Amino acid sequence: MFRIFRLDEDKVLNEVSSRGSKRVLVQAPEGLRPYLKPMVDKLRELGVTVLLSGNPCYGACNLALREAEMLNVDLIVHVGHSPMVSSSRIPVVYLDAQYIVRENGCLERFKETLLRFRSLGLFSSLQFIGYLEEARKTLEEWGLKVFIGRGSGVKYPGQVLGCNYTSPLEVENRVEGFLFIGGGLFHPLGLSLLTSKPVMALNPLTCSLRDMRDLKRRYLRRRYASIVEARDGEVFGILVGLEPGQFRLGQAEGLKSLIESLGREAYLLGFNYLDASMLEAYTWIDVFVNTACPRLSLEDSERLSKPILSPAELLVALGLIRWEEYIGESSQT
Ligand code: SF4
Repeated sequence: MFRIFRLDEDKVLNEVSSRGSKRVLVQAPEGLRPYLKPMVDKLRELGVTVLLSGNPCYGACNLALREAEMLNVDLIVHVGHSPMVSSSRIPVVYLDAQYIVRENGCLERFKETLLRFRSLGLFSSLQFIGYLEEARKTLEEWGLKVFIGRGSGVKYPGQVLGCNYTSPLEVENRVEGFLFIGGGLFHPLGLSLLTSKPVMALNPLTCSLRDMRDLKRRYLRRRYASIVEARDGEVFGILVGLEPGQFRLGQAEGLKSLIESLGREAYLLGFNYLDASMLEAYTWIDVFVNTACPRLSLEDSERLSKPILSPAELLVALGLIRWEEYIGESSQT
C-alpha cells in the first residue's frame, strides 16, 4: 500500500534558485536518506555544492544549525519534519515526506470495532497526514461524526508531534474516542496519557488496529515503580537537551533549585544525542530527570537501570504532588 515517500523536490529547487544559494546542507532522518539521491543530483546540476548531514535527525527540534555554521553553508534543507525552530542565522527550507496513500480497504477490516464509537477524533504524524481526509470520508459514510483539530505549532490539521498534542486535544470534548493513523505506538501512547478517552492506533502499513488502553496501564505501572524507586534518591541528574527545540535550561535550573531546597544533591547534564550507556556511566547519580524530548522517558527508560522521570513525576517522587493528582492531570483511566 505505502511503498514510497513523496518528496516535493521542485519546492527545494525553486527555493535554492530564487535565493541564489550556492552551498546547501541537507539534513534528513535515517529512514529518508535512501530517497535523497535524485534531489541531491538535481541540486548539483544547478551548480550547488551539497553537503549531507551525518548526525542523527529524529525530529524538527534538532535543526543542524551548528553543523551548518561550521560547514559554512548558506541554506539548510531539512527533510521529513515541519517547522518548529525559528532560525534567523541560516535560512531553512522544510521538505515534507509523506507516504503515498492508496486505500487498500484496511479501515473496512476494522469497521465493526470502529462503529462502537459514535464520534472519533483523527490524528496522525506528518508522514501519514495525507491519509486523514480519506479516512474521514470513509468513517463519515459509515455514519460516524469525525473531528480533526487544527492544533497549534503544527503544519497540518490533525498532526501531532511527541511533544505537541494540541490538535487532538482541541476536539477532546466532542468525541467518544480517538483514532491515530500512522506507524509506531509512541504518538498514540503519548495522547492516551493525556486523555481519559480511548485511543485506537491504526497502522496502515501492517493493517493492524490496537487499543492503547492496555499499553497505557502497563506504562503507568512502570512509571509508578520508577517514582517509588526515585523517592530514596540522594543525587539527581537533570538532563538538558542541547538541540534547538529541546533546550529548557530555565526549567532544568528551577528543578535543580527545588531538589536542593529539599536537602538533596542535583547536577545538570547537557547532551545532544543520548545513549543509555552514557548515563549509566554516572554511577554516582541515583535518578535522572528529563527536560528534553518526552520520548526519552516514554521509550528509552527501559534501557536504563536508574529511574528517568519527567518533571511532573519528579514532583510526585519528592512528595510535592500525589500520584493520583499526576494521573488526574494526565488521564482519568
Ligand atoms: S522534542 Fe522529541 S517529540 Fe518533540 S519534535 Fe523533538 S524529537 Fe519530536
